[in-house]
Amino acid sequence: MSMKERILQLYKLNRIDRELHELISLKGDIPAKIEDLSSEKNQLDERANELRAELDDIMASESNVQTENDHLLEKIEKNDELLRSGAVKSNKEYDALAKEIDDATNKIKENEKAAKADNSARKSAIENELVLIAGQLEDVNVELEQNLKELDELSKQTGEEETELNEQRAELLKSIEPEDLSYYERISSVKYGEAVAVVRKGSCLGCYSSIPPQKTIEIRTADKFYACESCGRILIAEELITA
Ligand SMILES: [Zn+2]
Repeated sequence: MSMKERILQLYKLNRIDRELHELISLKGDIPAKIEDLSSEKNQLDERANELRAELDDIMASESNVQTENDHLLEKIEKNDELLRSGAVKSNKEYDALAKEIDDATNKIKENEKAAKADNSARKSAIENELVLIAGQLEDVNVELEQNLKELDELSKQTGEEETELNEQRAELLKSIEPEDLSYYERISSVKYGEAVAVVRKGSCLGCYSSIPPQKTIEIRTADKFYACESCGRILIAEELITA
């Protein structure tokens, strides 16, 4: 195999590796996004549950207050009837019943005041936050679904493409010298699947640095491997790949 062909083989290998790298990096972003969105969703769900539980507690305590007030009201009415009936004989008994009425009346007022003051502000704050969370959850769910769908479609596509590219790669490797391959792999591992760069109009298209005219001519003759002095990539003349 001529030197020209050896360089060309590495160029072909690089094209496959670039595509493989793109496929993997394309998919690599989405699983992380899905993880972030799922944990955001869980946090929002948790917060919403906390708020709903708090709201339930408030409602329960309000209904307790209502029940207590109903009992107190009953007691007031009962005592009131007793006092009017004339059945109460002693002053001591009379005072005791009257005091119970006073106490119950005060307690009812106290309960009503406390319930209104404490709860209405907190209740509306909770309701506002729940509306806010519902909106955020909707956004997160939409984004999450999009990403899941994208990953699913991508996995279908990339699965086939990846298999095909790997087959092409294996086929190509049969005609690449082991020493050429290790040279290529050494650069590829640093340049993330971009080990070979095309020289166009005296510039390395890998790093866009210019190459002296004399060296450009040498690269075109392709009698050995030439590496870019600034980025280290294996250089191939554009004329070689378009020929
Ligand atoms: Zn370069």
